[in-house]
Amino acid sequence: GPAGRAVIVGSGLIGRSWAMVFASGGFKVILYDIVQQQITSALENISKQMRELEKSGMLKGTLSAEKQFSLIHGCSDLKEALEGATFIQECTPENLELKKKIFGQLDLMVNDDVVISSSTSCLLPTKLFTGLKHVKQCIVAHPVNPPYFVPLVELVPHPETDPSTVEKTYALMKKIGQSPVKLTRETDGFVLNRLQYAVISEAWRLVGEGIVSPTDLDLVMSDGLGMRYAFIGPLETMHLNAEGITNYCERYREGMIRVLKTFGPIPEFSGEIEQKISQAMCENTPKSINLRREWRDECLARLAKLKTEM
Ligand code: NAD
Repeated sequence: GPAGRAVIVGSGLIGRSWAMVFASGGFKVILYDIVQQQITSALENISKQMRELEKSGMLKGTLSAEKQFSLIHGCSDLKEALEGATFIQECTPENLELKKKIFGQLDLMVNDDVVISSSTSCLLPTKLFTGLKHVKQCIVAHPVNPPYFVPLVELVPHPETDPSTVEKTYALMKKIGQSPVKLTRETDGFVLNRLQYAVISEAWRLVGEGIVSPTDLDLVMSDGLGMRYAFIGPLETMHLNAEGITNYCERYREGMIRVLKTFGPIPEFSGEIEQKISQAMCENTPKSINLRREWRDECLARLAKLKTEM
């Protein structure tokens, strides 16, 4: 039988991708949304994607596309959707009041075993879950878009989340082929966005100071740093770029601190620099943003495949 029963609350961009991930891991999946049309188009879209992925040899998991698709069912009644659920992944719009309302509803309907997990990118667990009767079972599992090809999931507990909830979620994410990381406590931006914003702000300053063009700035990442980062992180990069971390610090400590002291203030992300970057990006993507996204996802799919072969 199925590995468990996952309920996706919100069948938009992220909900669809989660549904495919769970089905690839053999889970029965219930897709819930308040908009019936969203469920219908999600099912159509998933069926099409799965067939294409199977054809190109990039379908995840061991089951056929047909079998995986047969594990997914739409449902527009929340109470019915939650019957027998072992895991709930909330994927509604990034709006605190809306999400609080939904967790309040779930709190009244769930048993004491199911894990209630939120896909939120930026809302902190203390904002989302404080005061819920089932707070022990609540956790943030923040995916990266698209979760089907980018496996990282940040697990962020509420101070009252039970350690067993973290462990269950961690094990489940591994089982469905994702790559979970555990934060010991919440911090604004979690880890991924804190790293991302550090990079973005220095990129913005370098372009703003006219030191490098927007296009060349992006090349520094995509043809430089990023090549390594798809396989090893910044800390292991240090380790391998010298005779270990200790040796790296010995050699580069002073230089890093000297350079870091020259970093400017937080950019405004507006005005002339914004215009300059916007113009450059539009020139680089003369076709549509959607075509470029499709190309990006194709690249990510192939990279994901390469990573599993290494
Ligand atoms: P989306 O707008 O594509 O989908 C949201 C879905 O929720 C829609 O189908 C909508 O009909 C449905 N919905 C609205 N109210 C609802 C309710 N009361 N009950 C059930 N469903 C309801 O949004 P998305 O991009 O999929 O984002 C969903 C969540 O995932 C957000 O919290 C977002 O921050 C997070 N996230 C998004 C990305 C990304 O890149 N898009 C990445 C990581 C995390």
